Amino acid sequence: MVKIINGKEISNSLIEKFKKNVDNLKSEYNICPALAVIIVGDNPASKVYVNNKKKVCEKIGIKSYEFTLPTNTTESELLKLIYGLNRREDINGILVQLPLPSHINEKKIIENINPIKDVDAFNEINIGKIMTGNFNFLPCTPAGIVYLLKESNIKIEGKHCVIIGRSNIVGKPLAMLMLHNDATVTICHSKTKNLKEICKTADILIAAIGKPAFISCDVIKPGAVVVDVGINRDINGHICGDVDFEKVKDIASFITPVPGGVGPMTIAMLMKNTITATLLQKNI
Ligand code: NDP
Repeated sequence: MVKIINGKEISNSLIEKFKKNVDNLKSEYNICPALAVIIVGDNPASKVYVNNKKKVCEKIGIKSYEFTLPTNTTESELLKLIYGLNRREDINGILVQLPLPSHINEKKIIENINPIKDVDAFNEINIGKIMTGNFNFLPCTPAGIVYLLKESNIKIEGKHCVIIGRSNIVGKPLAMLMLHNDATVTICHSKTKNLKEICKTADILIAAIGKPAFISCDVIKPGAVVVDVGINRDINGHICGDVDFEKVKDIASFITPVPGGVGPMTIAMLMKNTITATLLQKNI
């Protein structure tokens, strides 16, 4: 019978643990980790994500500063804010909520966040460190996925892991992490030939595509582990993943639901990175 991986529950227990870590930092060192979140414009999805992050910060005792800027903010105004936050000793993590309005160069913004405060780990220095395995931070979604697999006692070593999606924030760093965990990794994308056949060879199939119900039972090897990263809206406006959950659950051994799977883990890993950044900056 399929086991549904409860990301919400796993992330809640991590949040409890992080709360104790933060309490300890406060009582032993008089230090309170602080995260600055910058949001430009009024993208409704971004607002929801930022709010969720703020709520979890509050639960853990991490101080959160929100900088809400209008859509017409210039690139140099945003850079000026980031330079200021880079210098502030009371700010340990800086996160710029993506996407940014099209007149702002996202890459330039991310590259100007001090790598030791880059809690999303999108900066090229942090991405490079992931390649060598010598990293301080891992991008939150890939780190959350590996944590979910390990917490569910799913063996990664020697398994064929097929990842659909090659974005810089999910697919590529996740491939590297799975490789560090001794999986044999195949990365697929929109130009991949024979996608269905490749998926059918996956012991662990991870979908990070952004298309509702793209993965159905006809591409799943019986007993495969299926991780759904997608966050989409179905035709009724409900949140759904890239995997046709109802059909795939009858053939998979493990599956993550949407919502309640990978999503909560992404926020938990952001909290972890903020605490790590604080420890690094304070030499603890
Ligand atoms: P991107 O749009 O950056 O990447 C999507 C990837 O899917 C691309 O590599 C693209 O290929 C590939 N793709 C698209 N169509 C096909 C196809 N027909 N066949 C095979 N591959 C295809 O998205 P992200 O990586 O940023 O996000 C992916 C999904 O995960 C989204 O739904 C997003 O909302 C969600 N997400 C969820 C998070 C969470 O916390 N749960 C966090 C981050 C993202 P190509 O490169 O060739 O274009």
